[in-house]
Amino acid sequence: MGSGKLFLDDVNQMFQEAADLISMEEGLAAKIRVCNATYVTRFGVRLRGQMHTFEGWRSVHSDHLSPAKGGIRYAPDANLEEVEALAALMTYKCALMDLPFGGSKGALRIDPAAWEPDELERITRRFAQELERHDFLSPSQNVPAPDMGTNETTMIWIADAYRRLKPNDINAAACVTGKPASAGGIEGRVEATGRGVQYAIQEFFRTPEDIARTGLPASLEGRSVVVQGLGNVGYHVSKFLSQEDGCRITAVVERDGVVRNEDGLDIEALKAHLGVTGGVADFAGGQFDPAGATGLEDPCDILIPAAMEAVITGENAPRIKAPLIVEAANGPLTYAANEALAARGVVIIPDLFANAGGVTVSYFEWVKNLTHISFGLMERRRDEMGHRMLAQSIERMTGSHFPEGSAQAFFEGAREVDLVRSGLEDKMRSAYCEMSRLWNGDDRAPDLRTAAYLIAVSRIAGHYKALGI
Ligand code: GLU
Repeated sequence: MGSGKLFLDDVNQMFQEAADLISMEEGLAAKIRVCNATYVTRFGVRLRGQMHTFEGWRSVHSDHLSPAKGGIRYAPDANLEEVEALAALMTYKCALMDLPFGGSKGALRIDPAAWEPDELERITRRFAQELERHDFLSPSQNVPAPDMGTNETTMIWIADAYRRLKPNDINAAACVTGKPASAGGIEGRVEATGRGVQYAIQEFFRTPEDIARTGLPASLEGRSVVVQGLGNVGYHVSKFLSQEDGCRITAVVERDGVVRNEDGLDIEALKAHLGVTGGVADFAGGQFDPAGATGLEDPCDILIPAAMEAVITGENAPRIKAPLIVEAANGPLTYAANEALAARGVVIIPDLFANAGGVTVSYFEWVKNLTHISFGLMERRRDEMGHRMLAQSIERMTGSHFPEGSAQAFFEGAREVDLVRSGLEDKMRSAYCEMSRLWNGDDRAPDLRTAAYLIAVSRIAGHYKALGI
């Protein structure tokens, strides 16, 4: 059986366990579980003097809300079942976060490193044409975003291809999110998934009854963290946890092995090294071991798999020592791993919540594109003036002055990136509180993943009920 099929079975099983706990009319759970439609395309592009055929997919798992939302990944082992599993996760993720989207995902079977940027651009533009022609790309129906192997440049190519096909669509920019901030994107989208993982962990450490289940000390400061994958998500979460929360990143697992440093790795330096050499070997700031997978088994407080699916399985789960696992990737634990770890009392902050920061800020970007105005533009200066007037009045009444340093931060009106962070933090904290409340107060939810699925599935079932379907 292919790994994509196993992944899809695992996601369906996790869904089914939660669905069985919710009273729903006959047949509705099956309707929610199945994937609505998957479009397969094979298209040719003439490159390097010959025709190359590429295979791609875009799957709409659910469009109980429109548009359906989810990334497009470029990977040499992409396959249909994997895309359908990821699309299903998008449905549950958007429902859990209460975003007005259905779930979708796309992939192109390609090794992006094997092609030059101008070649990737031609391939991407052709893929976008195919998607648009079959209604799998549009601001109102299906809105892609970056995922593994794609980035903001890929997204601007897709946006431009769409705009050329639909020059009359005033909302064309909203056909895709994760665009560069300078080209219709939003400040803070690149870091959003990593930022969301940070907020998820911070909120966990604000919840004493949940920390108690791990046996960890009450404070996030000083925690040791192992991260797998220093891509966009892994890099940002490592950077924020080490620079802002006082955590030590004691190991980073990458394709070529693991690099360790008990005192904490310098993430910026390691990222720069990775950029130049393509690996973590020979990094001066740590000890390298080519047996990368052993890094996941290091003793640490928090383990963050941030690379790809099925890295923790029934095989290596018994050797995992971290009491807290945060799924920054989609599906990094197989069903069997989840069972084995949960039975040992390991706390797992599940993917559909932990990595939801990306799609949450995508939502902000989509709204910005549809309103054609950046967040904070109308009120920023007025807020600043109001703060200054208030401060002057207080100073006159009290005869004292605002301290120099804090005054500036207080007076300034919010910039777009401040509002994006505030909105993201609010969404992550609210969702975590909802999950934690179920976990601690509802017998149906023995863990956070079940709690997350219960919330998501109930919300989707509620939509269907309201629609009378
Ligand atoms: N690819 C990201 C995810 O898996 C982001 C999706 C989006 O922004 O639509 O959640």
